[in-house]
Amino acid sequence: MPHDLSHLETSLAAYPRATLLEGPTPIQKLSRLSQLPEMNGCNLYVKRDDLTGLGGGGNKLRKLEFLLGEALAQGADTLVTWGGFQSNHARLTAAVAARQGLACELILTPSAVRTDDDFRHNGNVVLDALFGAKIHRLPLGVVPDGYAAERVEKLRHEGQKPFVMPLGGSSPRGSLGYAACAAEILRQADALGVHFDRIIVPNGSAGTHSGLLAGVTLAHSSTQIAGYTVLATEDQAAATTLEKTRQVLQLLDPRATLAESAVSVDGSQRGEAYGAPTEAMLDAVRLLASHEGLLTDPVYGGKAFAGLLAAVRAGDYPAGSNLLFVMTGGLPGIFAYRNAFD
Ligand SMILES: *Cc1c(COP(=O)(O)O)cnc(C)c1O
Repeated sequence: MPHDLSHLETSLAAYPRATLLEGPTPIQKLSRLSQLPEMNGCNLYVKRDDLTGLGGGGNKLRKLEFLLGEALAQGADTLVTWGGFQSNHARLTAAVAARQGLACELILTPSAVRTDDDFRHNGNVVLDALFGAKIHRLPLGVVPDGYAAERVEKLRHEGQKPFVMPLGGSSPRGSLGYAACAAEILRQADALGVHFDRIIVPNGSAGTHSGLLAGVTLAHSSTQIAGYTVLATEDQAAATTLEKTRQVLQLLDPRATLAESAVSVDGSQRGEAYGAPTEAMLDAVRLLASHEGLLTDPVYGGKAFAGLLAAVRAGDYPAGSNLLFVMTGGLPGIFAYRNAFD
């Protein structure tokens, strides 16, 4: 029986949304990888959210559809957000602002563990400037949300109408983008005649994970969502994801409930810090590139795919399991990690 997505899709339609994607992104089978004996008979699939067209693509565009919808409804003329020097969310916010004819201010923070020139000046930051964003580079230790609040005050004083987005665009409204993606995936699964046992995602600011979990919950799907945290510790990320998923559900259906046990967050791939390369990440990025011609980024996708590979190799999933890995984009980040891949 196909999924009944009417409740989820009707609830989503209550929120203003700008169209930034060209249509559904493809789901593809990783045929060569799935055949390796070490994959223990699991079928690996990818959801190609790296193929969202605008600004180099990536998962943040789904959130930005709802965030831009909210911003335009408020009459905003300037998009303001923050993130690390290699923030994909910052890059895509700049691209969206450029296309929409809005001003954009990005507040970027350095990394304590990545201080080389490629990290500071290559990759995403090259693109932020091309999109015409005004960039504020903070020194180490300055809190970006505090700086953003001051900046917004100043912009208002000058007569502008700023719209502020939190880290990763993961407000409850932004996370609706991934509840919509859950509907898209379930529809595609029905068309393919495949039941996905698990959807695997990186977990950074937790909006991707939370949105998907809220979506499958409202669609009464038995597909599990598993996140690999790359930023917070396992316990923190699980708590944030639970809270955020409940907030998204609150927007979509205040009667919906979510058991704490539905939140699955694994901290084994995070490494020493956000953005710090791990051997498993480097191996996972290389394996996907060399066997399938697909590119994952070193900060998010590489670590989450490493977690998926470790679980499959350990025999955690029975043969015949259908596992869908969400490719979230972030390709420019590879160029900021040249020395790690050397
Ligand atoms: C932001 C990001 C993620 C994580 O998404 P969250 O919603 O912040 O958890 C994963 N992959 C890439 C490439 C990203 O830029």
